Amino acid sequence: MPIRILPESVAAQIAAGEVIERPASVVKELIENALDAGARNIRVEVQGGGRKLIRVSDDGCGIPAEEAPLAFARYATSKLQRIDDLERLQTLGFRGEALASIASVSRVTMLTRSVGEKVGTFLRLEGGRLIERCPEGTPQGTILTVEDLFFNTPARLKFLKSEATERRQIESVLMRYAMAYPDVRFSLSQDGRPSFATSGNGNLADVLVETLGLEIVRQLLPVQPLESERTSVAVYGYTSAPTLNRTTRAYITLFVNGRHVQDAGLSYAISQAYHTLMPEDRYPIAVLMIVLPPSEVDVNVHPAKAEVRFRAPEVVFSAVQRAVRRAVLGVSSVPSFAPRAADLERPWRVSGNAQSARPALKLATEDSGRHAQHVQPAPELSEEALAQRPRSLPPMRIVGQLAATYIIAEAPAGMYLIDQHAAHERILYEQYLRNRAQHKPIAQRTLQPFTLNVPPATLRLIEENIAAMRAAGFEIEPFGANMVRVHAVPAALGKRNPAEAVAEVLADLEQGKAAGESALEAQLILRICKAAAVKAGQVLSYTEMNDLLRQLERCEHPLSCPHGRPTLIHISAAQLAKEFGRA
Ligand code: ADP
Ligand code: MG
Repeated sequence: MPIRILPESVAAQIAAGEVIERPASVVKELIENALDAGARNIRVEVQGGGRKLIRVSDDGCGIPAEEAPLAFARYATSKLQRIDDLERLQTLGFRGEALASIASVSRVTMLTRSVGEKVGTFLRLEGGRLIERCPEGTPQGTILTVEDLFFNTPARLKFLKSEATERRQIESVLMRYAMAYPDVRFSLSQDGRPSFATSGNGNLADVLVETLGLEIVRQLLPVQPLESERTSVAVYGYTSAPTLNRTTRAYITLFVNGRHVQDAGLSYAISQAYHTLMPEDRYPIAVLMIVLPPSEVDVNVHPAKAEVRFRAPEVVFSAVQRAVRRAVLGVSSVPSFAPRAADLERPWRVSGNAQSARPALKLATEDSGRHAQHVQPAPELSEEALAQRPRSLPPMRIVGQLAATYIIAEAPAGMYLIDQHAAHERILYEQYLRNRAQHKPIAQRTLQPFTLNVPPATLRLIEENIAAMRAAGFEIEPFGANMVRVHAVPAALGKRNPAEAVAEVLADLEQGKAAGESALEAQLILRICKAAAVKAGQVLSYTEMNDLLRQLERCEHPLSCPHGRPTLIHISAAQLAKEFGRA
C-alpha cells in the first residue's frame, strides 16, 4: 500500500484506543470532567456493563452554548493553553482528547447548561459527527450519555471481558474517585439497581466503610502529615495494622494530587514501612493521598494518566514511607489486638484430633529444669532497664506450655498463645538493635579461636562480606583453603556451642543470598536471632517462660517476630464467652 494520510475519523478511532480501552475508561474520563467542573454531586448510570449505556450527570459549571460543540473536537480543552501550564495544573484533564475519543467510537448526547445561561444546549453525535444541536431546558451542570460503545470498532468490542467484569471495573473506578474526593457525593446504579453511593460528607473513613467494609476499616490506622515535617510532600489516609495483610499489592490504593496512580516504587516504599512487622511476601491494605506541588510531578507520561513521574522520587518515597511507618509504629504498642478474623475464623482452634493435642498440653513446673542445660535462658536485660521501659503488653500469667512450642498465658483481657521461638527472636532482635545503637559490644570473644570447615561458596561469601560480618559481631578470617578461624561470635550466640551456631548461621545465610552490604548485615542479624532463639519443641521451665514473657512485654514491637510473623495470638474474654455460648 502507498503511504496515505488517514481520514480524520479513522485516525480518531485509532487514537481513541489509547484512552478508551473499555467502558470503565469512559466512566473514568467523564467523572474526571465532572470533578474538573467543580461538581458536588456525580451520578453514574450504567447498562449492560457500560456497552449499552453510560450516563454521567453532574452539577458542575456546565458548558456555554457556543462552546459546546467544541468540547468534542480533538485537542480542545479549557484547562490549559501553554505547555508550561502543566507546571501549575490543578485539573485532572488537560489533553482535550477524552470527549473526542469517546464520541468517535460511540453514540453520544450531551445536555448542558452553564452558570450564567437561562437555557441549556442539547447535542447529539454519532461516530464523532455532530448530527443534532438545539437549545433545551436543564438544570445547571452536564449530563453526558454514551451509548453503543465501540459499535463502529468491532475489533475492540471483541476484546471486552464479560459484562460482570466490566461492571466490576466500573464500580472500582467509582470507588477510587469516591476515596479521592470524599466531599463529593457519588452514586452508581447498574441496570437500574443502585450499586454504590457515598454521602459526600468529606469524611474519608466513611467512604472506606462503603468501599472496603467496616471490618477492614476497624483495622486501619490513620496516616497523617507531621506538622513539624518541613517537606513539600504531604501524605495522609489510612494503612492497615500489620496483622491485616494481603498476598498482593493490589490493595494499596494511591492518589497523587487527587489522581489515582499505580506506582511500583511507591507500593514498595509502603510495604517496606512494615519492615520486620509483616512477612516479606505480604502487603498492607492502604489508601493514601499524596499531595505535592504540581511542578514536582509530571502527569503527562501515560496515555490513560495511570502513572506519573516524580521530579524527586526518593523524596516522595521516603516521605510516604516515614508517614506510614509512623502510623504503624504508633499502634504496635497498643496492648491487645484482634486475631485476623478475616483470615482465620477461629485461629485458636487446635487442629488435629483431641488425642494428639491433649498429651502435649503440659503444665510446666520447675522440675522440667532437667532440660535446662540445652535451653538458652532468655537473654538478660537488667532489672533497671526492664523497669524503665514502658510495657507494651499487659502483664501475663503463665498457664502452661503447649506442644513444647507455645506458651499459654492469661491476662485480664483474655488468653494468649505465644510462639516461644518467634517471641524469643523478637526479644533478641530488639536487644541486638539496642546494643548496637548504644555502641555496646555485640561480639563476644571465644575462649580460644577455633576453626571451622566451610564449603567454598560460604568461604567466598565470608570473604566478600568481612565488614558486614564484623558489624554483626563475627570476627572471622579465612584460614587455608576450606577453613575459617573464628575469634569472636555475636554475644547472642554465646550460650550455644559456638561452632555449631556459626555453622548454622552461615549455612542459612548461604541459602538466603543477600544482596548489598547493609542488606547482608540486616540478614545476618535476623539469622543470628533465629539461631540464638529457643526452638520450637524445647520444653521450657516455668522460670524460662516467665523470663521470656517479661521481656516480650517490654519489647517495642512485641506482636511480631523480626520476620513479621505473629508472636502471639490473643483470644479475648469476650470471644471465649461467645464460643462457649455465655455471651
Ligand atoms: P480535557 O478534560 O482534557 O480538557 P475533554 O475532552 O475531557 O478534555 O473535555 C473537553 C472540554 O469539555 C473540557 O476542557 C471542558 O471545558 C469541557 N467539559 C467536558 N466535560 C465537562 C463537564 N462535565 N462539565 C463542564 N465542562 C466539561
Ligand atoms: Mg477530560
